[in-house]
Amino acid sequence: MTNGNSLDPWYDSYAQRTAGLSASEVRALFAVASRPEVVSLAGGMPYVSALPRELVTGSLDRVMAEDAAMALQYGGGQGLRSLREHIVDVMSLEGIRASAEDVVVTTGSQHALDLVTRLFIDPGDVVLAESPSYVGAIGVFRSYQAETVHVTTDENGLVPEALREAIANLRTQGKRIKFLYTIPNFHNPAGVTMSRERRIEILDICRSNNILVLEDNPYGLLWFDEPAPQAIRSIDEEGVVYLGSFSKTLAPGFRVGWALAPHAIREKLVLANESAVLAPNSFGQYVVNAYLDAADWKGQVDTFRGLYAERRDAMMSAMGEFLPDLSWTKPNGGFFVWLTLPESLDSKAMLPRAVKELVAYTPGTAFYADGRGGGHIRLSFCYPTPDQIRVGVKRLANVVNDELELIETFGPTTRPNTLVRPTSSVSAPPPNIS
Ligand code: PMP
Repeated sequence: MTNGNSLDPWYDSYAQRTAGLSASEVRALFAVASRPEVVSLAGGMPYVSALPRELVTGSLDRVMAEDAAMALQYGGGQGLRSLREHIVDVMSLEGIRASAEDVVVTTGSQHALDLVTRLFIDPGDVVLAESPSYVGAIGVFRSYQAETVHVTTDENGLVPEALREAIANLRTQGKRIKFLYTIPNFHNPAGVTMSRERRIEILDICRSNNILVLEDNPYGLLWFDEPAPQAIRSIDEEGVVYLGSFSKTLAPGFRVGWALAPHAIREKLVLANESAVLAPNSFGQYVVNAYLDAADWKGQVDTFRGLYAERRDAMMSAMGEFLPDLSWTKPNGGFFVWLTLPESLDSKAMLPRAVKELVAYTPGTAFYADGRGGGHIRLSFCYPTPDQIRVGVKRLANVVNDELELIETFGPTTRPNTLVRPTSSVSAPPPNIS
């Protein structure tokens, strides 16, 4: 019999690695933020209403007419062969040459992140990541008891010199660095893209230090003004595990993503996939496969690009108008903008007041493993319409200005600026926010 506590009789029985697994304190707020009167600039949900229904029903009908017996059955642990061949074509748009043999289909790229982490991380191992980084990845790394170390990032992505220094520092401390996790294109949450020169240099640094690169690229095809530089994986086959997804270019509901990995890693990934889920979702794979076979999927990606570009423009012009004294990143694709607050403001403390003023955002603290981020917020432009974006940014500007006025009158609240590594809480918002 376990001692537990009054809330959870199994409290003392959980594995150590669950210590970081707790709902974020902002979850309740996000529940309020999903009310229709609130303009949410918090979510990372693709605008699936822009996907014509007949494109999906056409694929569904075809699957049920031609492949029902297979689509309703268990499949192989590596994923459907014909879908993997399509995936190779999709990746070729970003300069990647690969064989379908080295692709593993996963339950969204989130699951690929989990599998790669499971394969490489022992408790205490280090994962290097951008500063800030994707909240869902930080959560995975923490769940395998990795230490996430953020490396300085600017408008051209990860800074090579900072990466060299971080590696040297960690090595001096006797730490084992297992991989560099990077989102080179239209970063979540920073909205920046890594330059081609840096891709080459960073790869070089990782190669010479024997550090694997985990390249996460769900947004690469959603560029606005010009395509991103070619994928890091297009420069090196052996040192990179590449993750892709149909969540943003088709729909996340299918939960179909993939990993492209060097041969030996790929074999282990298939085994890990089988151990976790037996086989990826057959039905989803067949429908996505039929969609890629028959629908004008590139035309649909163009539609999404146009739609998100218009929303990005709406956000940029609203920020210029209502928040002229602040600074923010200028994304050339993807879903997100990273806003820097005035020195005296704390994004987490300000959120309840913002929600009261009917606008929601994600506080920057969600995107750090070490308690930083209070000086930033992530704004997303993927889901609200241009009009809603304008209203939302205007409301946000009012909140910021009111806060600044309060501080002028009553003095500053203190922002937790020091590096605090949270031990028992995870700042992960719910999945529709990530
Ligand atoms: N990586 C990044 C950077 C993301 O933004 C997301 C989704 N928010 C994912 C991975 C996971 O996406 P999915 O599992 O839907 O492919």
